[in-house]
Amino acid sequence: MLPVNQAEQLILNLVQPLDGGQDGETLNLLDASGRILAEPITSSLDFPHWDNSAMDGYAVRYADVQGCAAETPVTLTIVEEIPAGYQPQKTIQPGQAARILTGSVMPSGADTIVIQEETQREGDRVTIFATPQPHAFVRDRGAYYQAGNPLLPAGLRLQAAEIAVLAAAQCAQVKVYRRPKVAILSTGSELVAIDQPLQPGQIVDSNQYALAALVAQAGAEPLLLGRVPDQPKALRASIQQAIAVADMVLSSGGVSVGDYDYVDQILAALGATIHIRAVAIKPGKPLTVATFDRAKDIENKTLSSKKDLVYFGLPGNPVSALVTCWRFVLPALRKLSGLAAPWEPEFVSARSLNMLKSDGKRESYLWGKLRLVNGEYEFESAIGSYSSGNLINLAGTSGLAVVPLGETQILAGDRVQVLPIG
Ligand code: AMP
Ligand code: MG
Repeated sequence: MLPVNQAEQLILNLVQPLDGGQDGETLNLLDASGRILAEPITSSLDFPHWDNSAMDGYAVRYADVQGCAAETPVTLTIVEEIPAGYQPQKTIQPGQAARILTGSVMPSGADTIVIQEETQREGDRVTIFATPQPHAFVRDRGAYYQAGNPLLPAGLRLQAAEIAVLAAAQCAQVKVYRRPKVAILSTGSELVAIDQPLQPGQIVDSNQYALAALVAQAGAEPLLLGRVPDQPKALRASIQQAIAVADMVLSSGGVSVGDYDYVDQILAALGATIHIRAVAIKPGKPLTVATFDRAKDIENKTLSSKKDLVYFGLPGNPVSALVTCWRFVLPALRKLSGLAAPWEPEFVSARSLNMLKSDGKRESYLWGKLRLVNGEYEFESAIGSYSSGNLINLAGTSGLAVVPLGETQILAGDRVQVLPIG
C-alpha cells in the first residue's frame, strides 16, 4: 500500500501534458474563458499606452508650483482642456496649465498633476494652494508593462482578469489547449441507469454522473461510456474503446479483491503497465493506476493521441470514487490539461470543531463543512456516519479533513489540514 503523497507524485510523473502546438485550438476571446493558454502572449503595446493622469486636476510644470502653499498660492493660465480620448495639441509653457481628467493624455511640457481639490478655478485661470510631489499622479507610459516583454505565460487559466488583459492587448483570438477527453466507465453487474426501474439487489450508477460532473467542472470533456457488467469479455471491449477515444480513462468498480474484480487483469492483458494497486487512503484503498504506451499502438489511427494514457481504476464505492478523484485525479487532470505547475491540491489549515478519528493505518479523509469565520478556517464534520457507503452525507460538504497516517485522532479545537472540495 503506497502512502498518499508517494502515490500523488508517482501519478503526476506518469501524466504527459497535452501538446500546446498539436493540442491547441484558436478561439475567439469570449469563448476562451476558463480555458488554458497554450502559448505565451507578448504585446506590441506599452501599458499604459501613453503618459496619463491618474486624477482629475491640472497638468502643470513642477517648477511653476514648487513652493506653493495656502499663503503663497500660484496662479496659472489654462491653455487647454484634455478630456478622455483627446490628443493634447499644445505644449505647456512656464506659467501655463491644462485642465485634465483621469486617464487623459499628459500634454508635453507638463510633468506633474495638481489634484483639483487643491485648486480654485476662475475662467481660464487656476490658482494652486499646495505643492504636489514632483511627478505626482502621472502614470508613465510603459510603467506597468513594456512592449515586447512576456505578457502572459502559457499554462495560465483564463479567468476574468486574464481575459481583461488579453482584450486590452487586442488579442481578439487566442490559442488555448483543447479540453482533454476523459472516458468514464462504470463496472458492476448490479448497476442500472438512472431511468431504469430498480430490481432487488440493483444500484443506480451514480458514479457515471459524479465523475462526469467533476471532470466537466475541471474543464475537461467527459465521454460517457456507460455501464459494463462484471464479465471479462465485455469489460475488455469497453476498456479498449475507452483507451482509443480518450486522453485519460476513469473506470469505477472492479478493482478490489472480490471474485468479480477483473479490471487489473484485463489492463495487464491489454498491455498496460500497472503502477499502483492500493493506496493507504481511507476511503479509497483499492485504487489502480496504469498507463498504456500508445506509441506502441501507432498503427491504430483512431487513437486521439499518441501520448501515454493514464488509466485510473477507481474504487466502486461512490464516496471512495469521489475522494480518490479529488485527491489524485484532479491534480493529474490539471497537468494533462496544460496548466502550469503546481498541480498538487492546496490544503488549508483549519480548527476542527469536532474530534476526528482514524484507525491510524491509512491517511483518513473525513468530509464536512469548511468555513472561514473571522479570518480563520473552521472544519465541522458531516452529521451521520463516515461510511464509504454513505454517499448521502457527502452532499453539502465543502472540505475533506485529513487525519495523517499513524495518527488516530485529532481533538476538537486542534488544527487539521483540509482539502477544499467543490
Ligand atoms: P466494487 O469496487 O466494484 O467492489 O464496488 C463497491 C461498491 O460500490 C459496491 O457496493 C457497488 O455496488 C458500489 N458501486 C460500484 N460502482 C458503482 C457506481 N457506478 N455507482 C454507484 N455505486 C457503485
Ligand atoms: Mg463491482
